[in-house]
Amino acid sequence: MLVSRFVEGTMSAPEAQNAYCQRCSGAHYLISAARDFCVAKRCPDCLEVCSTCDGMGFQYFVDDNGYSFARPCPTCGPVDTRIQKFNDARIPAKYASNSAFDQFEYRKDGKAIGNLQKVHLKLYKYATEYAPGAPGLVLWGGVGTGKTHLLASVIRHLTIEKGVSARFIEFTHLLSQIRETYETGVGETTVMAPVINAEVLAIDELGKGRANDWQTSVIDEIISKRYNAGLTTLATTNYPLTAANPDDAADLAGMKKAMAQETLSSRVGDRIFSRLQEMAEFVHVSAPDFRAG
Ligand SMILES: [Zn+2]
Ligand SMILES: [Zn+2]
Repeated sequence: MLVSRFVEGTMSAPEAQNAYCQRCSGAHYLISAARDFCVAKRCPDCLEVCSTCDGMGFQYFVDDNGYSFARPCPTCGPVDTRIQKFNDARIPAKYASNSAFDQFEYRKDGKAIGNLQKVHLKLYKYATEYAPGAPGLVLWGGVGTGKTHLLASVIRHLTIEKGVSARFIEFTHLLSQIRETYETGVGETTVMAPVINAEVLAIDELGKGRANDWQTSVIDEIISKRYNAGLTTLATTNYPLTAANPDDAADLAGMKKAMAQETLSSRVGDRIFSRLQEMAEFVHVSAPDFRAG
């Protein structure tokens, strides 16, 4: 049996940094929930003070011509960058403890839950193979199928594992933030610019809320600008792609009755819907409502 050599206070900082850290499983960071969002920080057990740079954040080195200069520490520099990207993404706090891909449960009591295993594998591959400009994904399916959780896992992996810049937004929350800017007189741009310009944008519950002209114009601005800039957009939606047959109970499973008659394109408009089809692959997430049982 393997026993950790790390006992607090018995190892020097460099030994701690190089030994396998049980607390963070060697990742050098820990994730916890702050008030609204997930927050990552350096693991205090193995990277509180980086032994490579003695906590300075940079190292001196001498080039071929004998000039000495500083460069970012190769040990803690990349970790700090990825931590910053993760924190900037603003993943909702409720996904702090369970959003790693290997924590996702696609089986219950040994039995497969809908098509979650397949979708999970697909998204894992997507996140690990992501390169700038990759087409996006739209996860669609009934309420409570785990779509948001999967979306959070993708953004977590992209930021903390790959150092990609990304932003997670809940659609209705974004709308209320924009409304607040009207009241406070702060320019709408302060809220919209980071959303429009994020390298990867994840929109949770696209199309939710009152589908009025103003809301449609907000979606239009985000999607059109991101489409033109070739940026990657991910989304979830509870709305189906085609209207359900009101007589078919299976079609209605996991969907509120009123919603069953609406589709994503009726919510966002045909123009935006067709843009989305060009920008992203639609992935059906099919599972019983987790929150029901
Ligand atoms: Zn650690
Ligand atoms: Zn360092």
